[in-house]
Amino acid sequence: MHVEILASGSRGNVTAVWSEQAFLLLDCGKPFHWTLAQLNHKLPDAVLVTHEHGDHSKAAKNFLARGVDVYMTAGTAQALQMEARHNLHTIKKRQKFSVANVAVEVIGSIHDAAEPVNFILQDACDRLLLLTDTGGIPDGIRGDFTKILIEANYSIPALMSAELNYGGKLRILNNHLSIERAEIFLAKYPRAEVSLIHVSPRHGNAEEFYERIKR
Ligand SMILES: [Zn+2]
Ligand SMILES: [Zn+2]
Repeated sequence: MHVEILASGSRGNVTAVWSEQAFLLLDCGKPFHWTLAQLNHKLPDAVLVTHEHGDHSKAAKNFLARGVDVYMTAGTAQALQMEARHNLHTIKKRQKFSVANVAVEVIGSIHDAAEPVNFILQDACDRLLLLTDTGGIPDGIRGDFTKILIEANYSIPALMSAELNYGGKLRILNNHLSIERAEIFLAKYPRAEVSLIHVSPRHGNAEEFYERIKR
């Protein structure tokens, strides 16, 4: 499984995953034409959308209109007012399905969206976990992973000292993952190749987080 993060953060999230017989996108939160240009105009076989926030779903309707299989929960589809088409697949937590040779498992998320989810992807070589836009570690995460894409949105001290009202801080704490929680979680997977995603430019520090996780 080859993974390439094309965009990450509150201004758009798109990750491309290539396996033997399948080419998938995890989220499509950048403009459609920008995304296609990044992919050398090759349409993916499937787009898996975690939730309706624009930084994850911006191009979903475009991919659907172009005949690409789009997977999202019913709550996400409703929030986005997606057109019911044969290539729109509604999924739910704990569901398993496959896209060619890639087995997908839907896991939960703790986030201020209608029905947010995350994904575990498995092929013959890799088992990948995507964990983004979540205030905590959802249940149902079992087994080992070779690749982990995990949100490290902020550090708790940086968020606490930020110029933001209490409600704003609480919203971030409850809906996004801190580097501290990511660290605790990742300690269980010492062999996984880790990518830190959705780092906040205001309350996060990519270089510092990278050094922390490397240790
Ligand atoms: Zn987001
Ligand atoms: Zn979100």
